[in-house]
Parts: sequence; structure tokens; C-alpha cells
Amino acid sequence: MQRLAKWFDSIETEKPFDSCKICQNFLSETGGNWVINKHYHRKECVLEYAICVHCRDEVSNSFSHDSKAAIRDFLETKIDWQERILEWSKLDSPIKRLDHCVACTMPREWMLGFTISAQFQHDGSLIEGALPLLLCSHCVSQINDSLSPESRETWKRFIAMYFEGPDSQDYHPGIF
Ligand SMILES: [Zn+2]
Ligand SMILES: [Zn+2]
Repeated sequence: MQRLAKWFDSIETEKPFDSCKICQNFLSETGGNWVINKHYHRKECVLEYAICVHCRDEVSNSFSHDSKAAIRDFLETKIDWQERILEWSKLDSPIKRLDHCVACTMPREWMLGFTISAQFQHDGSLIEGALPLLLCSHCVSQINDSLSPESRETWKRFIAMYFEGPDSQDYHPGIF
């Protein structure tokens, strides 16, 4: 299996993620898919985690209906999926999708910060679908601004509970 140029390995361990940040179970034993999210600021990874499908559903279900609708609306209206899919089909590696923002198409080099997400299946292989993708911090804050105060609070608690230090504001809820 081809390793993805380490983009989706843990910066902390320099190895592929092996357990879910929330339930701590081994990803290979959760029986389902998992998602990896990494947040970068000024080219430095400031927050990273893998989350199993069960925990992701739980976090996602704790968001209000309006917030979920707002996120969906962003994904549907701010991302030109037709254009992206055409472009992605021509890439020799899905990792090249990370060269620019999936929504505003700003090149990665110009960004102050960004978030990358990828989905893997139980055997550890990358799922090529809507993910992997990269969102610039500007687009991330647009999503955050559209969340209800309750959902923002939920997200803040999630970050505070599982991570030391960072303020939740700059991180998009990795629920897609
Ligand atoms: Zn989990
Ligand atoms: Zn963007």
C-alpha cells in the first residue's frame, strides 16, 4: 500500500495514526472507517487527530440541526464539486488535491493556515471520495461563523476536552 508522502501520518509519532482520539480504541479494531484531521498554522501542524466513525457520528449528532444544515450548505454551494472532480481525476496522486483550497482554490503557499482531512477504511487504505481535501483557514472560519452558538460551544468543549491549549475557533469541526 502506498503511503501518502506522510501527509496523513501523525506529526507527533511520525507514524500512521493507530488509535481514535476520543474512544482510544485501535483504529484497525473499530471495524469501520476513520477520518484524520490536521490543522496547520504558518506551516506548522498545531492540531491533529484520528477519529473513528462511531465517535465522529457522536460528535456530529451533538451538533444542532441548523448547524449541520449550515455546514452542508457551505459544502454544497462554496465548493465547485463538478470542477474539483474533473481536476482530481487528472491527478497522478490524490495528495495533489492538497495543493489548494477545495472551496476558494487559493494555493497552499499563500495561506496563513489550513486544514486537511482524509478518510481511511478499516484496512488502512485511503478512500478517494470527497476527501482527501484541504480547506484554507479563511474558508474554515466561514464555516465556523455559520454554526449556531450551541454547536460552537459543543465544538469548543470537544477541543478543550481532548486537546491542550488551542482555541477551538480556528478549527473546523471535522465532521464530514
Ligand atoms: Zn472512537
Ligand atoms: Zn479557501
